Amino acid sequence: METNPGNNTATIGFSISSKVSRKTKPDDTIVDICGIKAGRSEVVIIAGPCAVESREQLFETATAVKNGGARILRGGAFKPRSSPYNFQGLGEDGLRMLRDISRETGLPVVTEVMDTRQVEMVAGYADMLQVGSRNMQNYPLLKEVGLCRKPILLKRGMMATVEEFLLAAEYILNQGNNQVILCERGIRTFETSTRNTLDLSAVPMLKHLSHLPVIVDPSHGTGLRWMVPAMAKAAVAAGADGLIMEVHYKPEEALCDGRQSLSLSEFSQLMIDLRRVARAIGREIL
Ligand code: PEP
Ligand code: MN
Repeated sequence: METNPGNNTATIGFSISSKVSRKTKPDDTIVDICGIKAGRSEVVIIAGPCAVESREQLFETATAVKNGGARILRGGAFKPRSSPYNFQGLGEDGLRMLRDISRETGLPVVTEVMDTRQVEMVAGYADMLQVGSRNMQNYPLLKEVGLCRKPILLKRGMMATVEEFLLAAEYILNQGNNQVILCERGIRTFETSTRNTLDLSAVPMLKHLSHLPVIVDPSHGTGLRWMVPAMAKAAVAAGADGLIMEVHYKPEEALCDGRQSLSLSEFSQLMIDLRRVARAIGREIL
């Protein structure tokens, strides 16, 4: 008995008996990140820089996003960069900064893990582990994070179908970790005016097929700072359980993804608008 999530090609394995399937578990899964719960009526906002660059950068950004209403801090210490000559992240030094600023601000932190050999180390500093788009089909990594006792933020592969995305999450659940948040972050299409094509139809589709919380990344989904607010509001209207957004205290000086990073004031303005959208659909942003 197999369902086909939305196309006419032969299914490759997502079935109603999959652990991620809503047929297996009709009620929504709540993912708990140090008491912040994703998958309930609150729309959970995750914000922070693409990459951790310095204590000052992280602290200034974290304090501002917290004041605006962000509930979780993001920041990469290990960055998957297209060019090996670009800034690769601060590594464990960056993780220490994340942990320290998490303690100072009280915001839990999410950061990317790229390698099976680093899962334990990253899990020692972070409250949630991110598996990035480029690693959505890194099956050994999915299995390894499935063994760890921290929530996982799984980003959709830039070339992955909804079915492949759900099967990637299935790898994690199969190892006993059901604390998985799915993140739509844009896919590659023929369109080049945006960095990626943000597939907002994936939000209702994923929520229809699965019980896992679904969040949206309008920063990578567009690549354009000015477009982030429109797509963030659209994502909340479409039923996303949260947003992850890149914010930088000096976007024009960012070492990574400055073009798509909101300034501190743009972020706080957007939060006011997002609260209105959430309220209009019977949800809330705290
Ligand atoms: C990121 O969150 O900074 C990132 C690299 O995202 P993605 O894996 O979606 O490209
Ligand atoms: Mn980024």
